[in-house]
Amino acid sequence: MRLKKGLLISAIGLVGALALSGCTDSATSPSAAPVAEAPTFEAGTTMAALSEAGTMTIGTKFDQPLFGLLGPDDKPVGFDVEIGKLIAAKLGIKADDIKWKETVSANRELFIENGEVDIVIATYTINDVRKEKIDFAGPYYEAGQDLLVLAGNPDKITGPEDLTGKPVCTVSGSTSEKNIAEYTDNVITTDAYSKCLAPLRSGEVVAVTTDNVILAGLADQNAGEFEVISNPFTQEPYGIGLKKGDDAFRAFINDTLEESYTDGSWAAAWEATAGKVLKTPTPPAVDRY
Ligand code: GLU
Repeated sequence: MRLKKGLLISAIGLVGALALSGCTDSATSPSAAPVAEAPTFEAGTTMAALSEAGTMTIGTKFDQPLFGLLGPDDKPVGFDVEIGKLIAAKLGIKADDIKWKETVSANRELFIENGEVDIVIATYTINDVRKEKIDFAGPYYEAGQDLLVLAGNPDKITGPEDLTGKPVCTVSGSTSEKNIAEYTDNVITTDAYSKCLAPLRSGEVVAVTTDNVILAGLADQNAGEFEVISNPFTQEPYGIGLKKGDDAFRAFINDTLEESYTDGSWAAAWEATAGKVLKTPTPPAVDRY
């Protein structure tokens, strides 16, 4: 699954870009999106307010390698984080000026609704139930729910059908929790997927279930201990959560995503993060519902 060659090429590209631009912000932004200089937005819009403030608060995961994981400098790193930097950059906000707030699966809508964050980028599946409370830009990636088991797959699990009555760990408030309930009524929930690893190690559960890319990150972080079944059984389009009814902001984020698909910054963000372990996919079409 590792694409060492792709990584090498992107690393060479990054070093080249650093040498040419002398851009210091690249140190915290591997995809090095250029920060817009004094962009203008219609008065009264969220874009104008954030741009004027020079900062924004983004909710993301802090314990999910490849997408959002707290780094040694207490700043998160990962593909979701890079997508956040691309959006901030279009608003004229430098990566260093973004405030990152940890969100877990169960508090994402709440944090958006009560204004604790401006947006959430956190392996966040777009669905109609969530759309009753918030809106989504995107999708910017599509994952699928899968299973993580001990290396060697001692219980010979090939898919969710093999889990009837067996103990499985997942996270409350996630689509994973809802979907797995169709296959087993023996579900242990925590607030973060990383906390499912100890019960899997001890045999308390036979599998951990959530999106394949989250599981791939956990397997990569704990080399040799676990394996992903690689038999996805749902579609999980990842969106960017924002306040319900802020159509102008949603359109702006969708424009930003589409631009990142064509100008190479989406691919650069991927290759600098999740692409170290996973193949580079084709980005999904944005859904301007
Ligand atoms: N993408 C799924 C969701 O939004 C599972 C991953 C997560 O909990 O962040 O519920």
